[in-house]
Amino acid sequence: MTQVKAFAAYDAETPLKPFEFDRKEVGANQVQIDILFSGVCHSDIHTAKGDWGPAIYPLVPGHEIVGRITKVGSDVTKFKEGELAGVGCFVDSCRKCQSCREGEEQYCDEGMTATYNSYERGTNIPTYGGYSTTITVDENYVLHVSDKLDLKGVAPLLCAGITTYSPLRYLGVGKGHKVGVLGLGGLGHMAVKFAAAFGAEVTMLSSSPSKEADAKKLGAHNFVLTSDKAQMKASANTFDVIINTVSAPHEYAPYLDLLAKNGTMVVVGIPTDPSKVPAFSLIMKRKKIMGSLIGGIAETQEMLDYCAENNITSEVEVIDMQYINEAYDRMEKSDVKYRFVIDMESLKS
Ligand code: NAP
Ligand code: ZN
Ligand code: ZN
Repeated sequence: MTQVKAFAAYDAETPLKPFEFDRKEVGANQVQIDILFSGVCHSDIHTAKGDWGPAIYPLVPGHEIVGRITKVGSDVTKFKEGELAGVGCFVDSCRKCQSCREGEEQYCDEGMTATYNSYERGTNIPTYGGYSTTITVDENYVLHVSDKLDLKGVAPLLCAGITTYSPLRYLGVGKGHKVGVLGLGGLGHMAVKFAAAFGAEVTMLSSSPSKEADAKKLGAHNFVLTSDKAQMKASANTFDVIINTVSAPHEYAPYLDLLAKNGTMVVVGIPTDPSKVPAFSLIMKRKKIMGSLIGGIAETQEMLDYCAENNITSEVEVIDMQYINEAYDRMEKSDVKYRFVIDMESLKS
């Protein structure tokens, strides 16, 4: 057993507080990771607050994890003690269904085992995430992390990065495509970086006028203030792809109007309330809505390698663990530039 310090939500209403628990000794196929940085995803907030249904409390959120391997099990072949490693949104899956066999474990027929708010497969032991000092994970669900990049900026790639990389790759986005990114937060800023890196013309669609200069620094070619009717009208029927990252309830229709013929809106943001989609918003120009959930282990590794080769990281504000409740409040007000990342040293000292 390893005693682990953490921060947890004890219920849906009260602030996160310190929590201690034990992690099991490394199994034959597992590695133990000393967590260095842990990103703060809006899904952590949704889950802690019970937005998507009751959570398993005490809940230790965090699924953007980077750290160093401190122990390896006897049968581990892919990792060595001392290496850097990453863990994203899931730590296990059935390994037998078609999606698992195809390396898209996030779509596992039995449901992936999430890094937090799940139970370890076949047990009633809750999984605890990255707002903690160490984590133990099967080597097949662990990522290699390059030492070329700044680790603080790598942590958010494990969720915000792969969640935007995957649908852009799936849709073959590249030169000649026009991409709109809706919402400039953690996911949004990575979508801008990837779409621009793949050669697309990128437009930031934001409700925050103050974010225009930053959007352009991140690689957006254009900026549309979504509350400005004239700007929205001027962008009608323009985009091949819109990546919708908005976390709060909103109607899809005004943004579907911005898609060109055959255009696709990719829903990655997960608001609590559903949107009504008028049939006319889709049929008039053969438009599509699709969803996308993070990415499989193989594609996450591909994304991390791509980032190492192309010097892509997340823009981060590093915080101590004790600042987490303020960080949540600020994210709910869209006040984040553009990912909070917890320095786990703050929990160890
Ligand atoms: P975030 O950093 O808080 O960013 C969300 C952005 O949405 C805000 O910065 C804001 O951008 C925009 N927004 C917020 N409230 C809005 C409102 N009322 N009206 C219009 N725009 C609003 O959140 P995130 O971590 O990027 O996560 C975004 C969403 O994706 C969350 O729902 C999260 O659960 C979900 N998610 C999904 C997956 C997946 O696999 N599909 C993975 C990770 C996260 P502007 O200021 O630019 O408008
Ligand atoms: Zn996430
Ligand atoms: Zn499966």
